Amino acid sequence: MFEKILIANRGEIALRIQRACRAMGIKSVVVYSQADAEAKYVKLADESVCIGPAQVALSYLNVPAIISAAEVTDAEAIHPGYGFLSENADFAERVEKSGFVFIGPRPETIRMMGDKVSAKIAMKKAGVPCVPGPDGALPESIHEIKEIARDIGYPVIIKAAGGGGGRGMRVVHTEAALSNAVIMTRNEAQAAFGNPVVYIEKYLENPRHVEFQLLIDEHGNAVHLGERDCSLQRRHQKILEEAPAPGISEKLRNKIGERCADACRRINYRGVGTFEFLFENNEFYFIEMNTRLQVEHPVTEAITGIDLVQAQINVAAGKKLAFSQKDIEIKGHAIECRINAEDAYKLTPSAGRITQYHAPGGPGVRVDSHAYHNYMVPPFYDSMIGKIITYGDTREQAIARMRIALSEMVVAGIKTNIPLHRDLLTDSMFLTGGVAIHYLEQKLALHNQAI
Ligand code: ADP
Repeated sequence: MFEKILIANRGEIALRIQRACRAMGIKSVVVYSQADAEAKYVKLADESVCIGPAQVALSYLNVPAIISAAEVTDAEAIHPGYGFLSENADFAERVEKSGFVFIGPRPETIRMMGDKVSAKIAMKKAGVPCVPGPDGALPESIHEIKEIARDIGYPVIIKAAGGGGGRGMRVVHTEAALSNAVIMTRNEAQAAFGNPVVYIEKYLENPRHVEFQLLIDEHGNAVHLGERDCSLQRRHQKILEEAPAPGISEKLRNKIGERCADACRRINYRGVGTFEFLFENNEFYFIEMNTRLQVEHPVTEAITGIDLVQAQINVAAGKKLAFSQKDIEIKGHAIECRINAEDAYKLTPSAGRITQYHAPGGPGVRVDSHAYHNYMVPPFYDSMIGKIITYGDTREQAIARMRIALSEMVVAGIKTNIPLHRDLLTDSMFLTGGVAIHYLEQKLALHNQAI
C-alpha cells in the first residue's frame, strides 16, 4: 500500500480523499492555491504545498507545480478528485512518466473515453445500448449529412466529439436548420475544445439521466454498483441525486450493469468509472463515460456499503477487489443535495464570508463539506460548498431525513440553494419519483415568472 498520496484538488473532495487516506493509515499531501490557504483540509493536512495563485490555470491546472509538489513531498501516488485534471489524459501520462501512480484509469483509456465518438464506438461494440445514430464523425458533405439525419428522424442533436460540461451541442428540429447547425457546432467545437469533429444522434425529448457506477481492478475483476438518478439538473449541472433510480427493476439494473462491467473488461479499464445514460420509455441509451470519481458517489456508497475512494486507492495499488458481483447487495435508498453558494432561483453565484454555519446530523445523515463558521467562500471556483446525503430503508425515509437535515442546516452570510432543495423535497412530482431532465428548469422558470 502507498505511504503517501498527493491530493490534486480542492474543496469537499480534497477533504473526502484526505479522510479516506486517514482511514487507511496513508499520509496525505494537499496542494492549494493562495485563495484556499485557510481551508480546513489544508490546516488538517499531514503536509500541504501552495502551488500558485487563485487562478486555476496557475494552480489547480498547473501540471509542473503539482508534479513538483509530489516530488518534494515524496508522495507515491496522485489522486485527481473530479473536475480540474481528473480526466486529462496528458496529465495522467505525465504523472506516470514522472514515476508516480495516477489514481485513475490508464491514460489511453481516458483519451479514448474523452473522445465521444471513439467512446460510443467502443461501447456499441461491447453491447452497451447507445443513442441511435451512425458510428463515427459526420462527413463533410451536407447532402450526406441530410440523408443521415433523415434516416435517424428529427429531432436530432449535433455534438462535439471533444465536448464536455454540457457545451458543444445543438438540437435540430428541421432539415432547413441542419446545415447551419453543423457549421456552428463545428466552429464552436474548434474554438472551445480545439477539435472540430462533430457527430449526430437522435435527440431524446424527455429522458431521465440514469448512470451506472463501475469498479474494476487490474486483474480483470469488474463489478457494477447499481445506478443513480441524476435527472434534477439546471444548466446541465446536477443538483440532487438519488440511488437507486426510482422504478428501475432489478432485472433491468443487472442487465445494463453487466453490459457495462463487460465493456470495462474489454477495454481493460481500471478504477472507478461511470456510464451515463439517458433513460426513456424504459430503455437505456449510453451518452458518455466519466473516467473518475463523481460528485454524487456517496449515494452509491450508502446503498452498497462500499467506500469508493478507499476502493479506488486499493485498486490503484494493484490490489484485487475484495468482493465479486454476487456479494454486492443494494439496500435502502439514498439522496444527495448539493449545497451551492448561489441564489436558489436566479442561480447567480454568491461568494463571501460564512457568518454562521451549522451542519445537520442524526441517523442516516452524512455531510461532506469543507465549509465552517467564518469560512470565506472564494469567488474563483465551483460554487458547491458541500453535500448532504441521507439514507433510509425506503425512499420515503431518506426523503423524510433529508427534509429534517435541510431544516437544521444553517449557512448565513452568503446565499445558498438550500431554499430550492427544501422546495424540491415537497414537490409532488419529485415525491412520485422519476422526473425527466427538463423538470427542474421548467420549475425554476415557473417560479421566476411568478415573482
Ligand atoms: P457533456 O460531456 O457535455 O456533459 P453529454 O453527452 O453528457 O455531454 O450530454 C450532456 C447533456 O446533454 C445530457 O445530460 C442531456 O441533457 C443532453 N443530451 C446529450 N445527448 C442527448 C440526446 N441524444 N438527446 C437528448 N439530450 C441529450
